[in-house]
Amino acid sequence: MNTQERLERVTNAFRTRFGAEPSSWCRAPGRVDLMGSHTDYNLGYVMTMTVDRDTWLAARPRGDREVHVASLNLPGSAQFSLDDIQPAGDSELRWTDYIRGVAKVLQEAGHRLAGFDGLIHSTIPLGSGLSSSAALEMATAIAFQELSGFHLDTVEMARLGQRAENQFVGVNCGILDQYSSALGRAGAALLLDCRDLTSLDVPIHPDIGVVICDTKAPRQLIGTEYTDRRRQCEAGVRVLQQRQPEISSLRDVSIDVFQRYQQDLPPAVAQRCRFIIEENSRVLELKDALPHGDRQKLHHLLHASYVGARDLYEIAVPPMEAMMNAMLQGPGVIGARQAGAGFGGCMVALVEADHVERFASGVAEAYTRATGLQPSIYPVVAAPGAGLLLA
Ligand code: ADP
Ligand code: MG
Repeated sequence: MNTQERLERVTNAFRTRFGAEPSSWCRAPGRVDLMGSHTDYNLGYVMTMTVDRDTWLAARPRGDREVHVASLNLPGSAQFSLDDIQPAGDSELRWTDYIRGVAKVLQEAGHRLAGFDGLIHSTIPLGSGLSSSAALEMATAIAFQELSGFHLDTVEMARLGQRAENQFVGVNCGILDQYSSALGRAGAALLLDCRDLTSLDVPIHPDIGVVICDTKAPRQLIGTEYTDRRRQCEAGVRVLQQRQPEISSLRDVSIDVFQRYQQDLPPAVAQRCRFIIEENSRVLELKDALPHGDRQKLHHLLHASYVGARDLYEIAVPPMEAMMNAMLQGPGVIGARQAGAGFGGCMVALVEADHVERFASGVAEAYTRATGLQPSIYPVVAAPGAGLLLA
């Protein structure tokens, strides 16, 4: 579906549902991490890149204090008053909590909101680690600004989206997804500092393609496993802090300091901490390798990230291992690793740009042979951060 077809599809569906055409078109992209798994909530670094798959929110002012929304990706719809924002209750309508939550935090931050009719359409796979939830939050925040007539600082918009997801939806995510969707740039990855909430553009060498390899393996246990990992990292910080009081997150711990005190940590906690500390330094190393296209270095960094994620952080599941094997044998592969939080979902490969098509078909075939699953494999390029689709 090209952009024109997508516009027509959403316009027609909007007209059918709301009896008029939308007046505002808001969009926010998904994203993929090229390095930095689970480093965001440890206030470290991530090399993140927006992708050219995004969520649209077509909207039209209502003139009252109600929000009516539907999605072309999931069943059900929501109608709620801005004067009394409650969670949906019904699990089928949980997706509407992302919208309710953004409305709630925006109001709590002092913004006066206007009601709207809205229709959502996304080309980001839902629940696969490319941050469809953050894209939905950012598209919603753009729509409220556009229709209510106020302007948010972009970093503040990301923070509020994270707050909505943490406090209203009840997902204890870090800032990475919202920051990337809000501040991502066309044509470059971002080196994000999750403590300072600043980022640096890192261009990717033009001969290198970025390919998403979606295992299509359902992500299971992700909620509890994610919470366990966070707790283990926090437990590690508490012990290390007793040795060196200036340590407030794993971001502050060098590998030397870690090695000095690692025997004081329970073994599982030490494993988790080691991964985060090493992953942070890999992100910083990638900053130089990516623009120069240093193939050997890229291969080594991505591979070490996967091995650490599998053996130390233990977020790999068998379909990811099968995908990793397929990617490493794919024509033109430079490097490959996990993406998102792990436990299934998407992975990512750097591939010689002129081999991308052959890589995609070779990997799909090998992965299906190994698992019986039909993956989804496609190249992506860095797209602009959240904003208006049509000004
Ligand atoms: P990810 O952010 O990696 O895609 P999450 O589990 O964090 O995975 O978020 C996915 C959830 O976000 C979906 O299950 C749904 O509730 C909501 N969501 C995201 N995009 C849409 C959409 N286009 N329409 C409706 N709900 C969506
Ligand atoms: Mg998400």
